[in-house]
Amino acid sequence: MPVYTLPELPYDYAALAPVISPEIIELHHDKHHAAYVKGANDTLEQLAEAREKDSWSAINGLEKSLAFHLSGHILHSVYWQNMTDPKEGGGEPLAADGVGELAEAIGESFGSFAAFRTQLSKAAATTQGSGWGVLAYEPLSGRLIVEQVYDHQGNVGRGATPLLVFDAWEHAFYLQYRNQKVDFVEAMWQVVNWQDVARRHAAARSGANALLIAP
Ligand code: MN
Repeated sequence: MPVYTLPELPYDYAALAPVISPEIIELHHDKHHAAYVKGANDTLEQLAEAREKDSWSAINGLEKSLAFHLSGHILHSVYWQNMTDPKEGGGEPLAADGVGELAEAIGESFGSFAAFRTQLSKAAATTQGSGWGVLAYEPLSGRLIVEQVYDHQGNVGRGATPLLVFDAWEHAFYLQYRNQKVDFVEAMWQVVNWQDVARRHAAARSGANALLIAP
């Protein structure tokens, strides 16, 4: 039995159009995300085999592979739920929409929503090679931080929980935005599901595991 399974999308392939095309969503979820799930499961099997045979020559590669695929699976699982139909999502979190605590935390941690928006956009758009821009809850301080993640697992502070993730890998945008990563990141703000981000923030603050938030 595989440990990890590919979660179903919380909407159909066309739900995020015109911001993200159905073709991108289908390939991204059904092929790319699926490959990270398979990679994580395969690596766990290979590690079990290494333990059984007491054969550790590949341990460095296996541990790196586990970090890469498992982090890819986790980030994509958050990514799909972070987005919604552009007619329903986007804008900024407002108390009137029931997400006032998130709005307040963003203000306290970054000075203003505009400053936060700029920092996350810059972090995502300037990734070198493949990576992510991530809004995360940092539990030691209780503050929100922006991380610029390399691949899926590099340049990450331990223990911070991802709340809002922008996939800046070329597979996330190239078929539609070509080389215009900045335009894709800017468009991403139209599909942010602030209700989902606020639920994750509330769970993280209360000590619950925000990765287990149901769609
Ligand atoms: Mn991706």
